[in-house]
Amino acid sequence: QAKTLGRARYSFFHSELNFRLQASLELEQQLAHAIAHGELVLHYQPQVDAMSGAVVAVEALVRWQHPTRGLLFPGQFIGLAEESGKIAEMGVWTLREACRQLADWKARGIRVGNMAVNVSALEFRDHRLLDSLQAALAASGIAPSELEIEITESVLMAETETSQRIIERLRQLGVGIAIDDFGTGYSSLAYLKRLRPNQLKIDQSFVNDADTDSDSRAIVRGVVGLANALGLSVVAEGVETIEQQAFLQESGCHTLQGYYIARPLAVEALEAWMAERHNKETAV
Ligand code: C2E
Ligand code: MG
Ligand code: MG
Ligand code: MG
Repeated sequence: QAKTLGRARYSFFHSELNFRLQASLELEQQLAHAIAHGELVLHYQPQVDAMSGAVVAVEALVRWQHPTRGLLFPGQFIGLAEESGKIAEMGVWTLREACRQLADWKARGIRVGNMAVNVSALEFRDHRLLDSLQAALAASGIAPSELEIEITESVLMAETETSQRIIERLRQLGVGIAIDDFGTGYSSLAYLKRLRPNQLKIDQSFVNDADTDSDSRAIVRGVVGLANALGLSVVAEGVETIEQQAFLQESGCHTLQGYYIARPLAVEALEAWMAERHNKETAV
């Protein structure tokens, strides 16, 4: 009996695995077309000054408008893009599109501040990242200082000569460097000294727990202190409640980002949000 059960389980597991494999192979093939067919879109999430509420930047977050599956989020396809090597092409498109969009907003008098773009660890292994970055800046005419590259600690953990050189060059160009999900990686703090990023983004897990967990509050205050001491700006990610916002303001965090302020928004929605915010500001 146990044997039959085992076999049934095995074949269930087996078909489940097959199904998943099939599904991801299919997605991988479709991803190759998605870029050329214009199925990728960027949503933008505002980052605001913790004290004045002024919008200081927007972060570009990629989505895939899949023809049959609907809107897919990065968690559903970035991994695949990395495994299949499509991430490089996706990254080129993302940088170009984000810079183009910022130039368009500037030309129309819509002031979103800087543009922040996520770049994955794999892209940092290829020196062509610099070429596509400079091409995106040149094509759009935006200044290097208006662009911020968000890298995760995984880039720094897997630090290679190539990634070091790319980061060094970004600094020379004046492109901003932000460490994303700060505090969740396993790398040492030595890279802060070596690479001198411009910004730390406190991971949303610490921000989320700040309401209930005094250790998380201590970590947030610690990161703010560290950032201040090193002359870096500090952004809190994942601000979802007014209580979290109040705590972060008290802690001296410079910039806030999260659903409480705004969700990642499609272009039109972001423009509407900006207009509404402006109207409110001028009304008082
Ligand atoms: P991330 O860069 O740390 O971005 C923050 C993520 O948290 C985003 O998820 C955002 O929608 C979400 N978020 C923002 N505010 C809140 C909040 O208040 N509460 C909660 N629970 N979540 C919030 P998203 O858009 O699904 O992106 C996930 C990750 O995918 C990003 O994490 C980033 O690492 C990666 N990613 C996104 N776009 C790109 C891209 O264009 N290129 C690359 N290489 N990676 C990207
Ligand atoms: Mg990010
Ligand atoms: Mg993050
Ligand atoms: Mg992240």
